[in-house]
Amino acid sequence: MSELRYNTATRDWVIVAPERSKRPQGPRVDCPFCPGAEEHTPDESLRFSDPAGNWLVRSFPNGFPVMTPQAGDLWTHGDFPELCRPSAGRHEVVAESPRHDDSLARMEPAHLELVLRAWRDRSKALLEVSGVDHIIVFKNHGEKAGSSLSHPHSQIVGLPVMPVQVQVRLEEAVRSYSIWGRCLYCQMIDSERAAGKRIVAEVGQFTAFVPFAAFSPYSLWIFPRRHAGCFSLLSDEELPDLAALLGKVLGSLDRLLGDPAYNLVVRSISCHTAGSRYFHYYLAIVPRLGRVAGFELGTGMFINPHLPEEDARQLREA
Ligand SMILES: [Zn+2]
Ligand SMILES: [Zn+2]
Repeated sequence: MSELRYNTATRDWVIVAPERSKRPQGPRVDCPFCPGAEEHTPDESLRFSDPAGNWLVRSFPNGFPVMTPQAGDLWTHGDFPELCRPSAGRHEVVAESPRHDDSLARMEPAHLELVLRAWRDRSKALLEVSGVDHIIVFKNHGEKAGSSLSHPHSQIVGLPVMPVQVQVRLEEAVRSYSIWGRCLYCQMIDSERAAGKRIVAEVGQFTAFVPFAAFSPYSLWIFPRRHAGCFSLLSDEELPDLAALLGKVLGSLDRLLGDPAYNLVVRSISCHTAGSRYFHYYLAIVPRLGRVAGFELGTGMFINPHLPEEDARQLREA
């Protein structure tokens, strides 16, 4: 059981989920995501298989969900019930490969394409679930990035609220559009391509670059140049190019930094959300090389000890 609590000072929704502390910690003997352990995971929501019928990518509800399909009762402590909401939504796991030691940085582009297809297809399906307002696809790679299981996997959460971080980005996108008459992100992509220095790679209609004001070393954004606010609008024709580019930049990070821990997030706004056409979805990759400390927590300002232009050069050449 968990619930959402609203912080009126910061506009943040916090998921209070005490049972999450029961998640597996430290090394474990049997991997629940390896072939042969399928019966230990809840009912599958997606499966892509090879011609022989062996699964290549599969998804299923998370056994330790932060959002549950059925809303539980709110804890009735009597304090601020108006600031609480049931944590009703969806939380799924995507097992990215049957191979325990596989990684997105090293897998075949055709397999990476299946992973992206799974993210898109499950995002699309969860967007249709009543009460789901926002979808986040994310991946924690390595312990420093918060991963509790080493089998390659990612997660998709369907939230009943829009996080404040996303609201702020959407508000800014709408504001910018009203001034310039053009998408903020389309403009940014054009400017970055014209400058060239921070571009890491391009494949087809997708561009990867280190943001001008990257907040940490080797942070990367991958954008579709075709304007679209919702990741579920990624087309079948675009999948191979995005897979090739993602594989390329993750491969560069892997070679340059030696399999670094990283977080990958798909930033997207549901096409059912008012104003979503002003937003532009993208993938953010943040290697976890340092630690967030008091200054960052206290100010929301990050200190990047690297020059973004130099990081981009190293990634291009890796
Ligand atoms: Zn495994
Ligand atoms: Zn755009």
